[in-house]
Amino acid sequence: MSTPTISSPVLVINAGSSSLKFSVFDIRAGREVLSGLAERLSSPEAVLSWRLEGDDKQRREIPGQDHEGALGEVHQLLEAIGEPLAIGHRVVHGGEAFAESVVIDDSVIAGIDQCASLAPLHNPPNLLGIRTMQSLYPEVPQVAVFDTAFHQSLAPEAYLYPVPIGLYREQGVRRYGFHGTSHHYVAGQAVRRLELDPADHGLITAHLGNGCSATAVRNGRSVDTTMGMTPLEGLVMGTRSGDVDPGLHEYLAERLGLTLKEITAMLNRDSGLLGLSGVSNDMRTLTEAAASGNADAQRAIDVFCFRLARQVGALAASLHRLDALVFTGGIGENAAPIRAQVLERLPLFGFVCDDRLNRQHGDEHGRITTGESTTALVVATREEWMIAQDAFNLTHS
Ligand code: ADP
Repeated sequence: MSTPTISSPVLVINAGSSSLKFSVFDIRAGREVLSGLAERLSSPEAVLSWRLEGDDKQRREIPGQDHEGALGEVHQLLEAIGEPLAIGHRVVHGGEAFAESVVIDDSVIAGIDQCASLAPLHNPPNLLGIRTMQSLYPEVPQVAVFDTAFHQSLAPEAYLYPVPIGLYREQGVRRYGFHGTSHHYVAGQAVRRLELDPADHGLITAHLGNGCSATAVRNGRSVDTTMGMTPLEGLVMGTRSGDVDPGLHEYLAERLGLTLKEITAMLNRDSGLLGLSGVSNDMRTLTEAAASGNADAQRAIDVFCFRLARQVGALAASLHRLDALVFTGGIGENAAPIRAQVLERLPLFGFVCDDRLNRQHGDEHGRITTGESTTALVVATREEWMIAQDAFNLTHS
């Protein structure tokens, strides 16, 4: 294994429920020098894969290893690079307690723990990642970067559900929004690339990955977003339904004898593109299946695009102007036919897709529309880079 020279390593940890993503950036040089993934943790098939800059991808089985074991492996990989200057952690839910990234101390850990009831699958592994790294690197400052923070600018009319107000005041029932780091990054990129006024612009950002959400950004601030109290609300996703009638739960419970837990699991894991198509949750597989004549795959794609276009229309109601629609995430960055269909479904907005630019995923600025059209852009998201920057800037200013 060759070791690149790294003057300012910053480690980023994204601990999911059964996986762990990690990256190391040489922050002053702006380079990613190591990236990796530990998957299927706590199972006999647990596996670690990583890539060091300039090297081939490596893979090692780590049967039975849990998050702590995987972080120990990351610690060993880092021996070749040196101790990080800072560690940034992606934390999914910051509730109303965190409107920006923060340096981690005991009170921050307690705050993340308090938000765990709102994100029971996500916050506990995030906390485990933080605690394990604290014991492996007791001297290194750590920073938490929240998926929800960018959306803390939502006004009450945008974040309240029309349910008894005590549920908000006593139980924290409200819309929080997610993917904030990605929406924030691509909106900033759009402002820069289109030379917009940072204090006067209107954007809609569509993060389309396995999870999908769209956000209205007015003058640098999130003013509306499609995900809600949990990442289940809003757009059609790989396996998540997005919006359904809340009456569905009782209907299914009575007709099929399903419990609430079973219905929630179905809406999270068996719905969305997978549920509709019966083929796959993966947009690449679906577009290939649709191209070879699979009508169910095509219908799932059409529902995905219809609902995204509908939400773009709804989000536009919070803007004074639409400077650009920005596509990002695995689907947003790579699926030209999806982008074309969404633009086509929004004739009132004046989009005219430039097929050549769309096929090549945008011109030098990422533009995929014609000169006369309202602008649509493709911007590759860089959530890990944003987390690394926050981790460094908050601890080395
Ligand atoms: P995650 O949310 O897990 O980070 P990604 O942002 O990587 O996921 O997005 C994954 C999605 O992007 C999958 O549905 C995948 O099929 C889709 N995708 C990636 N490349 C393409 C492509 N060339 N065409 C269509 N879809 C693609």
